[in-house]
Amino acid sequence: MSFDKIRDPRKIRHQIGDMECDYIYTAGVAGERFYIALRDEEKLLATRCEKCNITFMPPRLYCDNCFTELASFMEVPSKGVIESYTITYFDRDGQALPEPEILAFVKIDKTDGGLIHRIGEIKPESLKIGSKVTAVFEAKKERKGALTDIKYFKPA
Ligand SMILES: [Zn+2]
Repeated sequence: MSFDKIRDPRKIRHQIGDMECDYIYTAGVAGERFYIALRDEEKLLATRCEKCNITFMPPRLYCDNCFTELASFMEVPSKGVIESYTITYFDRDGQALPEPEILAFVKIDKTDGGLIHRIGEIKPESLKIGSKVTAVFEAKKERKGALTDIKYFKPA
């Protein structure tokens, strides 16, 4: 058997077919607790592996590094720092947005994780990597137990 790089995928054993792209991704036990706390208490939850010194946010049930079960959940601040961002002028269907939208990766304070979310109440030209932001939650009656229960993050 040769270990040369295969450049044509039809040269390996294969099956041609179509794959449906609609799918349901379950939140899992940790995700379920995370979304319920977000909806009912305006809280971000995390789990922590003391052995590896990693705080997972969103929470995980097992440490990615050492596979230890992470049974206790803790509240972490609903604020953080913009580590990366992009400005979008079109929606998912390619339609022009009335106003450009800022999407950012917000590293949540006191954790090793973060969330990709909208940034509001700031003009794109004023935004900087390292800007401090805080979550703005939907009104309680509007929350659905989803990441959109945070409307956006705004400058802190
Ligand atoms: Zn660990």
